[in-house]
Amino acid sequence: MSFAENLERVEEQINTACRSAGRTRDEVRLMAVSKLHPSGAVREAAAAGVRLFGENRVQEWAGKAEALLDLNIEVHLIGHLQSNKAAKAAESFTGVDTVDSVRLAEKLHEAAVKMERPLPILMEVKLSPEDSKTGLAPDRAGELLDRLSDLPNLKLCGLMTVPPWSKNAETARPYFAQLRRLRDRLAGEYPRFDFSQLSMGMSGDFAVAIEEGSTCIRIGTALFGRRSVGLTAEN
Ligand SMILES: *Cc1c(COP(=O)(O)O)cnc(C)c1O
Repeated sequence: MSFAENLERVEEQINTACRSAGRTRDEVRLMAVSKLHPSGAVREAAAAGVRLFGENRVQEWAGKAEALLDLNIEVHLIGHLQSNKAAKAAESFTGVDTVDSVRLAEKLHEAAVKMERPLPILMEVKLSPEDSKTGLAPDRAGELLDRLSDLPNLKLCGLMTVPPWSKNAETARPYFAQLRRLRDRLAGEYPRFDFSQLSMGMSGDFAVAIEEGSTCIRIGTALFGRRSVGLTAEN
């Protein structure tokens, strides 16, 4: 299957999910997750009309980006970021969707100030107690939000989460609903911030995520096919 065919099928599924949720297609952005696929795959996706991409690793994207400077695309970091790579990430990405600590926020802000630009961010929230998952526990969100008030170059746009992996999409539904409720609560408590974005939903569960209010679905496999295994190291 070509990328364009995959895109067409995914678009149909997005439309169906939007209809069943009483939402319009323009409320949900499609992010193509191109991690572990070569720069040529990004180019093909861009030619098919995709404008928003997600990558997991700073180094990996830096390697591909050089060949793609002519493309008018937005690329967000969706993988875990260590503070010591914050400057490089702020330089390389349009936005960072995985901010999960005060220290990381401070480092990204320092870099954004140096570059004299605002950096859009999402706060990554960890909703399951699994050790392997990154993200900020909901009861610590306040610490980060209080600090963000003093970091004006970081533009909070909302929340992001990755639920525990499961074959069954319905398993993810309570996590998606929980993220939405957390967002509603934080938006009430911190009216000075923008919480409009909810980044949730991947290839296996994006229809459920759309039903639960996702504004950005992150789709890798359903668009690009399977990734080579064994290359999943984080930043
Ligand atoms: C890899 C990845 C995705 C895409 O996963 P697929 O199941 O291939 O669609 C989405 N979000 C994050 C954070 C990822 O690491």
